[in-house]
Amino acid sequence: MDYIYDDQNIFAKILRGEIPNTTVYENEHALAFKDINPAAPVHVLVIPKGAYVSLDHFARDASPAEQVGFLQAVAEVCRLSDVEEGFRAISNTRTHGVQDVPHYHMHIIGGKQLGRMMPH
Ligand code: AMP
Repeated sequence: MDYIYDDQNIFAKILRGEIPNTTVYENEHALAFKDINPAAPVHVLVIPKGAYVSLDHFARDASPAEQVGFLQAVAEVCRLSDVEEGFRAISNTRTHGVQDVPHYHMHIIGGKQLGRMMPH
């Protein structure tokens, strides 16, 4: 699979400081910021600083340090947010997953009862 990264996507612009964000946490390899259109009281996006389009791209090509740094950011977001009673982590991917922004991101959503993800 070829992963083609478009550096004009909105999260690339956030990483370059071209548009503002509400940062929750940042480390060498990842940035976490509040979603502009929150689906729940807690809605944070965690993104790697590297140019990866999707979870499968990041899992395949990111270095171990990038992957660990990303997961450490997820841990910090959870520690800093009101998610002791749980949360949902979502990475929408490409067309079937309805991914709008082609820079890998994980949604951390919580702060209320979210219900089941899929109807049974
Ligand atoms: P997805 O459909 O998984 O690609 O989700 C993209 C998410 O990015 C949506 O939840 C948007 O509300 C969010 N979003 C888009 N632009 C911004 C922005 N400038 N700052 C923060 N969140 C954004």
